[in-house]
Amino acid sequence: MACTITDSQEAASELAKRFDRARRAVFFGGAGVSTASGIPDFRSADGLYHQHFAYPPEEMLSHGFFISHTEEFFDFYRERMICLTARPNRAHARLAELEREGHLAAVVTQNIDGLHQMAGSRAVHELHGSVHRNVCQRCGETYSAEWVLESEGVPRCEKCGGLVKPDVVLYGESLDERVLIASVQAIAQADLLVIGGTSLVVYPAAGLVDYFGGSEVVVVNRDPTPADSRADLVCACDIAAAFDF
Ligand code: ZN
Repeated sequence: MACTITDSQEAASELAKRFDRARRAVFFGGAGVSTASGIPDFRSADGLYHQHFAYPPEEMLSHGFFISHTEEFFDFYRERMICLTARPNRAHARLAELEREGHLAAVVTQNIDGLHQMAGSRAVHELHGSVHRNVCQRCGETYSAEWVLESEGVPRCEKCGGLVKPDVVLYGESLDERVLIASVQAIAQADLLVIGGTSLVVYPAAGLVDYFGGSEVVVVNRDPTPADSRADLVCACDIAAAFDF
């Protein structure tokens, strides 16, 4: 039975102890890591699903919609998915420090905002891609998120006129195999797995935690997750506060 902590200061001190012992910890994170940076949580009650658009967000972010309603996809995508004013919070910053200090081997994230890299993390496996990479589907030329944000209508490659697609995994698309393999390897070799800010409901990403063969699992999430039952420690508190150590 997992020990559950609700006090964020106590959680921070427990996390500090565990990371201090770890040599190749992996942090597996989701939307909750970015909400403290002002990026809306996709699935929370006041998240994107409850705002009003012509189509449900899950449909607008599907591969089929991208193909059939490309201009509407980009209207939605520019307005709701690119948030360039967001800055890393305490959790991002501490994770970057833990990597530099030799305790953390990798971050595996379901987020597409690039905030871990902005905070200084180097080993970041982005399961769902990144808004910061956008690729011409014809010639392979890459473009920044800023470029997509400033484009109008359907973004077209400046070199060849091809369609520029965000390197983001849409509903109905498979995860990038190389990212998936690197994530599985990092998790399988980890001595500590910290799962944070994710409800662990999006498969196949959520199934990755099953590859962990180490001894210690910690969950940091306000609400209960399916991983709680196998966790040694559950920190049911704010994630940025839990990483304030
Ligand atoms: Zn091109």
